[in-house]
Amino acid sequence: MPKDIDARKAYLIGGGIASLASAAFLLRDAHMKGNNIHILEESSIYGGSMDGAGIAETGYTARGGREIEEHFECFMDLFSFIPSLTDTNRTVLDEFRELNIKEPIESHCHLVQNQGEKCDFHHLVYPNNI
Ligand SMILES: Cc1cc2nc3c(=O)[nH]c(=O)nc-3n(C[C@H](O)[C@H](O)[C@H](O)COP(=O)(O)OP(=O)(O)OC[C@H]3O[C@@H](n4cnc5c(N)ncnc54)[C@H](O)[C@@H]3O)c2cc1C
Repeated sequence: MPKDIDARKAYLIGGGIASLASAAFLLRDAHMKGNNIHILEESSIYGGSMDGAGIAETGYTARGGREIEEHFECFMDLFSFIPSLTDTNRTVLDEFRELNIKEPIESHCHLVQNQGEKCDFHHLVYPNNI
């Protein structure tokens, strides 16, 4: 535990994953008390680009995508200690792994041009045609 941690406060600007993750790591690794961590968000919604909202009857909206890859080590570590909302014996990482097995990523288009025309970006990803 860092010296004088109970006297320190953290002010995180923005309620996106960067601040939410910082808060979780401050709690776990720095042992900072939750009521000393402040997240300042200008909009009425937390989550930033990763927010999600809606209900089954009218549909859902999510501003960002959900392509998670195995090299996201910090992200996996974060989710490994966040308890599931529905089952306290499980973590959000368990739920994420299950979802990614059940609904594998299948993304056929990342860039569009000319108002909806699919853009071929393979030469940007594989410059040497590997
Ligand atoms: C359409 C889309 C698809 C994406 N797909 C993927 C993907 O598949 N895989 C992946 O890994 N990443 C993806 N991303 C990127 C990923 O979502 C972002 O990199 C990540 O969410 C950024 O998090 P952040 O906390 O840094 O910023 P943000 O999520 O942008 O959060 C910043 C927050 O700060 C608030 N804010 C800004 N200025 C102020 C201020 N002055 N005072 C108070 N609050 C302020 C904003 O309102 C916002 O809530 C995607 C993003 C988008 C938009």
